[in-house]
Amino acid sequence: MEAEGRIIINTGDGKGKTTAALGTAFRALGHDKKVCVIQFLKGKGRYGERIMAERLPNLDWHICGKGFVFMKENLEEDRRVAREGFETAKRCILSDQYDLVILDEITYLPLYDFLDVEEIVELIRNKPRRLSLILTGRDADPKLVELADTVSVMEPLKHAYKQGIKAQKGIEF
Ligand code: ATP
Ligand code: MG
Repeated sequence: MEAEGRIIINTGDGKGKTTAALGTAFRALGHDKKVCVIQFLKGKGRYGERIMAERLPNLDWHICGKGFVFMKENLEEDRRVAREGFETAKRCILSDQYDLVILDEITYLPLYDFLDVEEIVELIRNKPRRLSLILTGRDADPKLVELADTVSVMEPLKHAYKQGIKAQKGIEF
C-alpha cells in the first residue's frame, strides 16, 4: 500500500518557509509525483518560482491573493479572495489528483480572521490518505501544529533586509 502522506508546517519569522516547501515540491516532481501549490495573500508578481512552474507539467499553481494585507485598511476584498482561494484548496485536496499540495502563507488566513482555523483543521482531517500537505506562514495556529507530523520554525539570526539590502531577483522572488 502507498505510504501515508505527511503534514508539514514551515513557520517562524526567518527566511525559508516558502522556499523549503518548494524544495520539497522539486523533490516530489523528481519522483514523477503530482504537485499543486496554492498561494494565499501574495499578489500577481513575476516570482521566479511561478515562471518555472509554467515549464513543469506535473506542477499546478494557483494564485489566490491580492498582495500582502498588513498596512491595508479595507480587507474585504482580500477576505473574499482568500476565501475563494480556500475553496480552490479544498477542491484540489479532495480531488485526489495530487501527491503533494502546498498551502503557501495559509497561516495568515485565521490570523487575519479571514477563516476559522477549524475549517483548515477539518480539511486536513479529510485529506486523501496518500496526500502530503505543507503549510507555510508565520505564527502557525497551535491547532495546526498539533495536527502536523513535522513542524519547523525558521529563526532569523540575520537577514540582509535588516542591513538595508533590498529584495533580490532570484533570491527573494
Ligand atoms: P522565502 O520565500 O524566501 O522562503 P519565507 O517564505 O520564509 O521566505 P515570507 O514571510 O513568506 O518568508 O517572505 C516574504 C518575503 O520576505 C520573501 O521575499 C522573503 O525572502 C522575505 N523575508 C523572509 N523572512 C524575512 C525577514 N526575517 N526579514 C526580511 N525579509 C524576509
Ligand atoms: Mg513565504
